[in-house]
Amino acid sequence: MWLDCPQIASTTVPGQFVMVLCRNQGGDVPLLRRPLSIHRVDGDRMALLYAVVGQGTRWLSHRKPGDQVDILGPLGNNFTIDADSKRLLLVAGGIGIAPTVALADFALDRGYIVTLLIGSRSALHMYPEDQLDRAVSTGLNVVVVTEDGSKGRKGMVTGALSDLAAGADQIYACGPLPMYRAISGDIDILDGKPAQVCLEQMMGCGWGVCYGCTIETKNGLQKVCQDGPIFDIKDVMWNSVVDPVVGRL
Ligand SMILES: Cc1cc2nc3c(=O)[nH]c(=O)nc-3n(C[C@H](O)[C@H](O)[C@H](O)COP(=O)(O)OP(=O)(O)OC[C@H]3O[C@@H](n4cnc5c(N)ncnc54)[C@H](O)[C@@H]3O)c2cc1C
Repeated sequence: MWLDCPQIASTTVPGQFVMVLCRNQGGDVPLLRRPLSIHRVDGDRMALLYAVVGQGTRWLSHRKPGDQVDILGPLGNNFTIDADSKRLLLVAGGIGIAPTVALADFALDRGYIVTLLIGSRSALHMYPEDQLDRAVSTGLNVVVVTEDGSKGRKGMVTGALSDLAAGADQIYACGPLPMYRAISGDIDILDGKPAQVCLEQMMGCGWGVCYGCTIETKNGLQKVCQDGPIFDIKDVMWNSVVDPVVGRL
């Protein structure tokens, strides 16, 4: 969904998100805004990419061209690139591709060598590849993995990640919690490379007031909305992170 919003488009950096009020004026459900990553920026416009999983995203999917949407942002911290990094490996699991494309666009514009590893359940659930045409024409290398083998290599994203990590200076990932747990629990997968992850923790306010998204990290308690959503994978105490799909593990 493309939105005209010059203030956000001109100030945001990759990894940030917005809180979207997903209800009609005068209505009161759903009460809380929903966090969505900034997926792309083009001039005064920004794009959101979302999966319809509940009331809020369903409401959003019924908006029509010309409608207005109440958005708060840009919020949160951002992905960072170390001064001596040249080759970046971006890993997207499912709808986690949303913020990774923003980072790919940003890094390609600045001359980095970027590989985007996309993992999805099947070809049907794949991010439309034509959306990456411009990025590919500026050098993006795309590797696709599907769980059922209907597109690209068959298997889980973690398998391909361990093959590609050696060629990267830095790794960035966004995906479901089981993917992070698998990566963080097996140091070989990352080939010892520094890795940043985007946490899609459920949150209430989105800007540090309610503490609803607090997690434990090696640096103490941190709010995903304000101290994150981007964290160093080594800093997160993964048992403190609630899986939005299945609850606390
Ligand atoms: C910083 C941040 C960035 C995000 N960016 C995106 C994005 O770019 N695109 C996108 O589609 N989603 C994104 N999410 C997740 C999104 O905010 C939630 O899926 C949201 O709850 C959807 O609202 P809803 O009202 O449609 O569903 P809800 O009614 O809130 O949830 C319905 C069901 O969906 C499942 N669910 C809820 N949250 C998540 C989650 N985080 N991951 C997986 N399943 C969930 C649960 O099973 C829940 O019961 C992001 C979350 C965070 C914190």
